Amino acid sequence: MEALKRKIVEEGVVLGNQVLKVDSFLNHRIDPVLMDGIGDVFARLFAEDGVTVVLTIESSGIAPAVMTALKLNVPLVFARKRKSLTLRDDLYTEKAYSFTKQEENEITVSKSYIGPGDRVLVVDDFLANGQASLALARIVEQAGARVAGIGIVIEKSFQSGRQALIEAGYRVESLARIASLEDGSIRFAE
Ligand code: 5GP
Repeated sequence: MEALKRKIVEEGVVLGNQVLKVDSFLNHRIDPVLMDGIGDVFARLFAEDGVTVVLTIESSGIAPAVMTALKLNVPLVFARKRKSLTLRDDLYTEKAYSFTKQEENEITVSKSYIGPGDRVLVVDDFLANGQASLALARIVEQAGARVAGIGIVIEKSFQSGRQALIEAGYRVESLARIASLEDGSIRFAE
C-alpha cells in the first residue's frame, strides 16, 4: 500500500535493528485518513471470504481493525490484555508473549462475541514473530470458529512471524513488508 509505505518512510523511526516506531500515525497519534484507506484495502482483500467478525488485540490494533470492520459491515472484537472486573467468567483465554514488552500477557475474549459459525479476520498493527496473531487465532479455534485470514498493517519480514502463520495454515496479507531495518534505514521487501 503506497500511502502507508510513504508514511513509514517519512515518519517511521528505527530503534536498534529490529523495531520500527510509528507513534505519529499508528501507535500513539492516529491518522484517520490512512486508517480509512487501510480499512478499504483489507475489506477488498477479504471481500470474498465471508468474514463475520474482525478480531484484534488492544490497543494499537483497534484503529486499523475498526475501519476494516466498518468497511466489511461486521463487528470488531478486541482481545483484552488484562482481565477487567466486568469480564469474569465465560472467557476464552490464551497466553501471548509480547515482542515489544518482552513479557507474557494473558489475553481474553468474551465467549459472547465469537462462536461456532463465525469466520474471523484477525487484524494487527505489526507482525514480528507472530505470537500475538497466533494467540488470536487460537482463541478463534477455541470458539469453534474459523480464521478467514490474517491482515497485518506492517510486517517485519526479517522476523519469523509470516512463516509461522503460513505453516499454521493461515492466509496472511500485509500492507507493508519491511525486509530490513539494519543501520537505521528502512528497506521494503519486493
Ligand atoms: P509478534 O506477536 O508478531 O511477535 O509481535 C507483534 C506485536 O508486537 C504487535 O501487536 C505490536 O504491538 C508489537 N510489535 C512488534 N514489533 C513491533 C515494532 O517494530 N514496532 C511496533 N510499534 N510494535 C511492534
